[in-house]
Amino acid sequence: MARYGMVIDTRRCVGCMDCVVACQDREPRARGVQPRLDRVRHEREVPDAAHRDPDERCNQCDDPPCVTCCPTGASHVEEFGALVLVTHEECIGCKACLASCPYDARFIHPEGYADKCTFCVHRLTHGLDPACVAVCPTHCMHFGTSTTQQRGEHVARVAPALRAAAGGGTKPRIFYLT
Ligand code: SF4
Ligand code: SF4
Repeated sequence: MARYGMVIDTRRCVGCMDCVVACQDREPRARGVQPRLDRVRHEREVPDAAHRDPDERCNQCDDPPCVTCCPTGASHVEEFGALVLVTHEECIGCKACLASCPYDARFIHPEGYADKCTFCVHRLTHGLDPACVAVCPTHCMHFGTSTTQQRGEHVARVAPALRAAAGGGTKPRIFYLT
């Protein structure tokens, strides 16, 4: 099964925060929690913010605890790209998935269901890259699909320079080149 993943080259990041502003999965959160946008504006004005890690992306883990803990099946692994997604109508807002995620990637949408980065699945299904990938002026983010085996071989080749997000045990599919 093809699985979407991402490698982020943090060495190319100039801290412009265009990716944060473009984020279409974060937008409901930004509307619900306005201080986040204020923080973005503030960080744009801070010269040494280039290497600050504003990343709240879902890591699209291969072993996602947010799925196994969900009592209703709302959190699930989609056939399309093996994406971890939430069926909004089936979510009862119990927050078990928020507590289980080691990356604090989830939040409660203002309408009451659990939400998070989806790798912009609404764009992927139209053949487009996630919004953050599309707008990055320095092309920090390398996004695509690979089979598990191909991805493992790629990671093994560049392993000395790559790190997965901290948290461990969930097999995240985002890697950082530092
Ligand atoms: Fe689930 Fe968190 Fe992993 Fe995303 S990053 S798949 S929300 S455990
Ligand atoms: Fe499942 Fe929703 Fe509860 Fe998360 S908040 S565990 S998606 S029912």
